[in-house]
Formats: sequence, C-alpha cells, structure tokens
Amino acid sequence: MTLSYWLDRQYTPREPLLDVVTTQYCIVGGGITGVSLAYYLAKLGKHVILLEADEIASKASGRNGGLLVPGLEKRYDLCVQDYGRPVAHKIWQLTSQAIEIMKTLCEEEHIDAQFLQEGVIKYAMNQEELNDLITRHAPYSQLLTKEEAQKKSLRKCVGALEYPKGASYDPATFVRGLARLAEEEGATLYENALVVDWIHQTDHYSIETSGGVVHAQKIILCTNAYTKELIDLPIRPVRNQALATSSFKRTLTGGHYSADGWMYFKQTPSGEVILGGGRDKDKKTEETDVDDLNPTIQGYLTNYLGNLPLSGAFAITHRWAGIMGFTPDKLPIIGEVKKDIHVLAGFSGLGNALGFLCAKEYAQKLINGFCELPLEPFSPKRFS
Ligand SMILES: Cc1cc2nc3c(=O)[nH]c(=O)nc-3n(C[C@H](O)[C@H](O)[C@H](O)COP(=O)(O)OP(=O)(O)OC[C@H]3O[C@@H](n4cnc5c(N)ncnc54)[C@H](O)[C@@H]3O)c2cc1C
Repeated sequence: MTLSYWLDRQYTPREPLLDVVTTQYCIVGGGITGVSLAYYLAKLGKHVILLEADEIASKASGRNGGLLVPGLEKRYDLCVQDYGRPVAHKIWQLTSQAIEIMKTLCEEEHIDAQFLQEGVIKYAMNQEELNDLITRHAPYSQLLTKEEAQKKSLRKCVGALEYPKGASYDPATFVRGLARLAEEEGATLYENALVVDWIHQTDHYSIETSGGVVHAQKIILCTNAYTKELIDLPIRPVRNQALATSSFKRTLTGGHYSADGWMYFKQTPSGEVILGGGRDKDKKTEETDVDDLNPTIQGYLTNYLGNLPLSGAFAITHRWAGIMGFTPDKLPIIGEVKKDIHVLAGFSGLGNALGFLCAKEYAQKLINGFCELPLEPFSPKRFS
C-alpha cells in the first residue's frame, strides 16, 4: 500500500461499528462522493449512517491530483450530439458551479484545503492535439494562442484550452473537513467498517459489516472502483500513479493537463509539485485494483519533471498509486439499481467536482424526487 502526499499526516480514525443500529440512509464509502452525500442528506434533515471500510478519503479521494475542472470525461461536442445542447450545457454549468460551492465551503467552514482558483489548462503539444482541443472547446473554457499557452508552463506546446474557473486543492483535507461538517449536521460516520453483505428484509435492509449491523431503508453505494465487489455493474478498477517533490520556489500557477490528458501537474501553495498520470505508458499493468507502484510509469513521471519550468534543486518525497473506477463510456453510474439500492460510482478518473456535484444533487433527488442535474446520461439503465 502506497502513501500519498495528502495522506502523509497524523489522523485519528473514528470508531468502527460494533453494535446494531438503525437509519433511513446507509451510505457505503467515505470518499468525496459518500461524504458529500452524507453532508447534504444530513443537512436536509435525514438520518444518515456512513460506513467506510478503511479511513475517510483513504482511497482515490485522498490520492488524486487535486484538480477541479468543469465538465465530464466525455467530450462536450459528443455530449451535445448524444444528449442535446441544453443538457450538455447544464452539466458544464453545474460542475463549474460545484467548484464555486466547494470554494465557499472551504472559506466559510474553515476547511484548510489550500483551495486555489488559478484556472486549469489543457495543453496541445502538436497540431493533432490542438485540433482535438478546438473540438472539445466547451462552455467555461477558452482557447489560448501558442504564445499565451507557452507562458503558462510547457514551452514546447502549440496551444491550450484554459478553464479560468478551474481550481486545485488538497483533496484529503477537503473530504475530511466535509466529514466533520456532515457530523455537525447529524450524520454518523464509522471508519474501518467494511460492508460484507446485506439481506433484504420485508421493509428494510440489514447490512452486515466487519463489526456490527445496520438496519436501513435505503443503501447508497459510493464505492467507486470497489463497487463490483458488492453489486454486478460495469465498473472496472484502473490504477493511476503520482509523485510529489520537495518544496521549492513557486513558479507554476494553476492546474495543468498535457499529453492528451494523460499527464497532470500543479504546484501547491507551499511549493511542492504534484505530478501524475502516464498510464498510457503501461496501460495493461494498470488494469488492477492493487495499490502498488509501477516502476515504468514512475520512471516516466520522474523524467517528465524535466519539461516543467522549475528552478532549483528538489527531491522526490512521495510516490503513490490510487485506484479509479472506470465505466465503458467513462460516465458515472448514478441511480437506483435495485429496489432501495442506489449507486453513485464509476467516475472514470474525474471525480473531484463531479463526485461532489452528483452527491449534492442526488440528495435532492432522493428527497424531492427531482434535481437540477440531468441524470439521464448517467442512468444505470444504459448498461442493462
Ligand atoms: C492518482 C489519481 C489522480 C486523480 N486526479 C484527479 C484530479 O486531479 N481531478 C479529479 O477530478 N479526479 C481525479 N482522480 C479521480 C478521483 O480521485 C476520483 O474520481 C474520486 O476521488 C472518486 O471519489 P469516490 O468517493 O467516488 O471514490 P473513492 O475515493 O475511491 O471512495 C470510495 C470509498 O469506498 C470505500 N469502500 C469500498 N468498498 C467498501 C465496502 N465494502 N465497505 C465500506 N466501504 C467501502 C473505499 O474504502 C473508499 O474509501 C484521480 C484519481 C487518482 C487515483
């Protein structure tokens, strides 16, 4: 098991579940999706229990690049083609708004997640990539000329797409801060509480954990890459590698994607560079849920640091991996999959803003029967 830069700090987990407890909503999974859902359901006055197998934010949500970008993994033009312009536009608008809400939560609720709204840039290194970026040009983004883009970081790029409202943050601190807020709103969270099975009783489910049992009216699986261990859905685990350097003079602002989205990097406010990706260098090995380093990709990441405009000597302090949940069309699965069993999972490598948004909106949907986010593109039925 690798240790991410974000998780390399003291943390005291909550007690595991040892008793038999009863609730309306039982959320399984304490990453950004599950914790956001617990927060919003509790805020709406619902009785919520969250069960996390390990520690809050210990999986992808505490191991990622910490970039917040509007939109989906699926290209905007393809979303327009498949769902119509109003639906595509709404999704981009709401993901952009979600970033603002996360920023406000950090400011108003004193979550010290180093939130920086300096924009996120996607670089094109050749004409083909540039043509692709032009096709991807979506609301809330703007094309940069070669000269403008080169000033941002990668001197050999030929152009870029910038999301000025894009942001970056410390993902583990955000999720753990939100977990505290969820508790303040009345939710109960258990850590080291692995869900192993559930039984459908006449009017509720009995959820068996490694400790106690939860009787709940509804189960909501926010288990992303690990969902298949609990229910048969087309979500496969895919590994992603990352590293962090020691701190040095801050020359990089904003978040950055390059190599057609395969690489990402940023510099934290305290000067460490977080860089990750490179999965295209050994895709086959990365089709796994084993949290191990891949020497080929880690070597590639080390060399890639040479492309960044960094000044001064530095060391690599952390190398880690994280497991993402991919669906066949790279869109999450959001909805009821069996009576009173709901799923929010399969974020396919882009789940910080989207996981937060889907959870916030799904809390509304569960209680009021509708929400602002168009859910048709994410319906579980598309795979049935
Ligand atoms: C290296 C890396 C870099 C990334 N970079 C970015 C980025 O810059 N921007 C971005 O938007 N996205 C990024 N992502 C993707 C993003 O991290 C994920 O999409 C997001 O964190 C998913 O959150 P989640 O809460 O759905 O899943 P997770 O964070 O994986 O949480 C699921 C939780 O469920 C728990 N669980 C599973 N099974 C059980 C069970 N049976 N019982 C109880 N609990 C269970 C797990 O322990 C886990 O804590 C990256 C991912 C990785 C790995």
